[in-house]
Amino acid sequence: MAGNPFDLTGRTAMVTGANTGIGQGIAVALAKAGANVALVGRSAASETQALVEAEGRRAVQISADLSSTAPVGDVVAQALEALGRIDILVNNAGIIRREDALDFSEEDWDVVVDTNMKVLFFLTQAVGRHMVEWSSQSGSRGKIINIASMLTFQGGIRVPSYTASKSGVGGLTKLLANEWATKGINVNAIAPGYIATNNTAALQADENRARQIIERIPEGRWGDPADIGGAAVFLASKAADYVQGHILAVDGGWLAR
Ligand code: NAP
Repeated sequence: MAGNPFDLTGRTAMVTGANTGIGQGIAVALAKAGANVALVGRSAASETQALVEAEGRRAVQISADLSSTAPVGDVVAQALEALGRIDILVNNAGIIRREDALDFSEEDWDVVVDTNMKVLFFLTQAVGRHMVEWSSQSGSRGKIINIASMLTFQGGIRVPSYTASKSGVGGLTKLLANEWATKGINVNAIAPGYIATNNTAALQADENRARQIIERIPEGRWGDPADIGGAAVFLASKAADYVQGHILAVDGGWLAR
């Protein structure tokens, strides 16, 4: 729609971890707003592809295990070959490991920090190089959206590598905004509250914990991946051109409590 600052028609997005949960919700929301989407992940994203195509948009699946930086160059090359350019990058793929800090293993530290923070940075670097060049040619702005967490702001418990990685994602979001704002790129993050996905399946299944969580959320319910999709469309759009280095909590009021 001409003049609608939220319209993403003609834009191309890359979403990591888009086969399920929040990534799927974001990919579908971006498609509803008009974007074509590259779906990057280690599991087939056929359901998400069908949902994006049902909106009349293009979807391409790119298979990659994002626990190491090895596939980064290839992922970006495949997306550029399939869609021509990348206007929007959503760094969503992430994992969590739970254990007491006294017993936490180095393996559970490395895999979480590598997936949630190290690979996020180097994928963003690779896409950022493309965005800087494309923006200088076309004048259109690139949009990077990192998926942070409540544990970007809070300490959490029994999740040391997750808290460290998501706090790091918050810091990197601000650093990259500082470096790239004048280079035609907006870098922001979304901090989801408690969203009903595989990531929180254990919490949802624990009746006592699930009740405590809902009682503490002013909105009185778990979030849905579509709740995060709406925030992603805003940050990906022209409407957010002057939003930089912001970590947008989408948490039903959890942090306000
Ligand atoms: P999810 O349903 O478990 O989805 C995680 C996604 O990341 C899946 O697509 C998963 O692929 C992908 N992924 C994990 N490791 C990967 C790897 N090595 N290579 C490629 N893809 C990989 O959980 P979710 O809740 O939607 O989580 C999405 C993001 O939101 C994560 O960064 C998470 O930390 C964050 N978050 C979630 C919540 C919440 O309440 N749910 C709250 C705050 C932040 P597979 O399906 O193949 O494993």
